[in-house]
Amino acid sequence: MSDALFALTDEQRMIRDVVRQICEDQIQPHAADVDENERFPVEALKALNEGGFSAVHVPEEYGGAGADPVSVCIVIEEVARVCASSSLIPAVNKLGTMGLILAGSEELKHKVLPSIASGEAMASYALSEREAGSDAGAMTTAAVRDGEDWVLNGSKCWITNGGWSTWYTVMAVTDPSKGPRGISAFMVHKDDPGFVVGSHEKKLGIRGSSTTELHFEDCRIPGDRIIGAEGTGFKTALQTLDHTRPTIGAQALGIAQGALDAAVAYAKERSQFGKRIADFQAIQFMLADMAMKVEGARLMVYAAAAMGERAVHGQARAQARLHGQRVEVLRLRYRHGGDDGRGAGARWVRLHPRLPGRADDARREDHPDLRGHQPDPAPRHGSVAADLSTGQRVGALRVSSAGRSRRRRRPADAARPRPMPGSRIAPRRRPSSSSGAADRGPALAPPRPTSRPRRAAARAG
Ligand SMILES: Cc1cc2nc3c(=O)[nH]c(=O)nc-3n(C[C@H](O)[C@H](O)[C@H](O)COP(=O)(O)OP(=O)(O)OC[C@H]3O[C@@H](n4cnc5c(N)ncnc54)[C@H](O)[C@@H]3O)c2cc1C
Repeated sequence: MSDALFALTDEQRMIRDVVRQICEDQIQPHAADVDENERFPVEALKALNEGGFSAVHVPEEYGGAGADPVSVCIVIEEVARVCASSSLIPAVNKLGTMGLILAGSEELKHKVLPSIASGEAMASYALSEREAGSDAGAMTTAAVRDGEDWVLNGSKCWITNGGWSTWYTVMAVTDPSKGPRGISAFMVHKDDPGFVVGSHEKKLGIRGSSTTELHFEDCRIPGDRIIGAEGTGFKTALQTLDHTRPTIGAQALGIAQGALDAAVAYAKERSQFGKRIADFQAIQFMLADMAMKVEGARLMVYAAAAMGERAVHGQARAQARLHGQRVEVLRLRYRHGGDDGRGAGARWVRLHPRLPGRADDARREDHPDLRGHQPDPAPRHGSVAADLSTGQRVGALRVSSAGRSRRRRRPADAARPRPMPGSRIAPRRRPSSSSGAADRGPALAPPRPTSRPRRAAARAG
């Protein structure tokens, strides 16, 4: 990347070098299999945990590396470059803990964050419901006080890393009369009574990342698991998205860079008319255009992440301009290279627009005329986002939604990793024969079935 407008620090460059090596050595070799077999990328989880890269955003006071948002994006970008599914490990760990970091009590932070920082646990973010996607404020999952506790009832859907995470940031209605201001946020543990992982979505891309329903069936959690004050959950959820949208842009950027790398390699290898196709000027122009767009996207992602760090609000208007760039890169790769083991080639691009914080959401938020019936009276910060989404719509997720009465197996905790040494990022690589718990721990074992059938009507009114 050019230093002319945006210079990475030495530490950020070091992070990129170390993560790239880990990705190429330990994650890329499994990417095709992960995608082909729709299996969680346990090798990537182990490698990222051992390197200390699965949740670099966690502040130092909670045992984390305290990485800045640009560094977090670099980690996600590098992982996505070789395996899009695996990049959702660091990305969703941030998504699943950002609300807690922003608004949680110190006690709750100290209870949850050290295990995320060390890689012992992962976190997910549970906002969406089947009838409350873009219109998240229309959620019906409810939390009711019962003595000292909260009791949750309802269902969430499309929850990334569902079944693999230990902690879930769950938004639920605590006062239906107040609309979005009657929504509160909670930390739910996978072992809380009444917490059930539901059916697993079959996706067109990023298939190694689990996307599941979650059901809360009289799910009882202690009173101190509320994040912030009652009624602030929707604001916290939106602020979380403000902080994590650049990470989705970073994921798209990494996918694009991986596709460009594959296209260049293929153009050099493939010969027609007695020449490498890379020697044809038309191909050179295409590759140059792709590289230019990827570099432009990189600048925007890093700039958006840096603005988020400096609490510069209202910067999201630029994000939609990235719309469509990635698909051109992938299209060329698809034509020229097909699948090289990095995952599912062009299929990745089909899913990205549906991820939380995608470009069309942000575009609506940033242009008042396009807001439609946004429910929001809740205060919010401007988004700092950069998303390379293509705008293609994917309806396939709905197809598997019918299976929501199926109970999903729940995997054991994430593999216990080595914590990142030191308070700043000082990743060290371990030989793959490391005897860390990730090698043998239950997290790498197949998910075990949950014990009782899910109640069909788990959703609260
Ligand atoms: C792979 C994957 C992972 C996900 N992970 C998570 C997760 O971890 N946690 C979580 O909470 N959710 C997650 N989601 C859910 C995701 O955030 C939702 O898909 C998203 O909020 C959109 O909701 P929807 O799919 O119901 O689309 P809908 O809300 O039904 O929208 C359909 C279309 O209508 C458009 N539209 C909607 N409202 C308007 C409007 N007012 N004006 C103009 N156009 C509009 C949308 O932009 C979209 O193009 C995930 C989704 C996917 C696909």
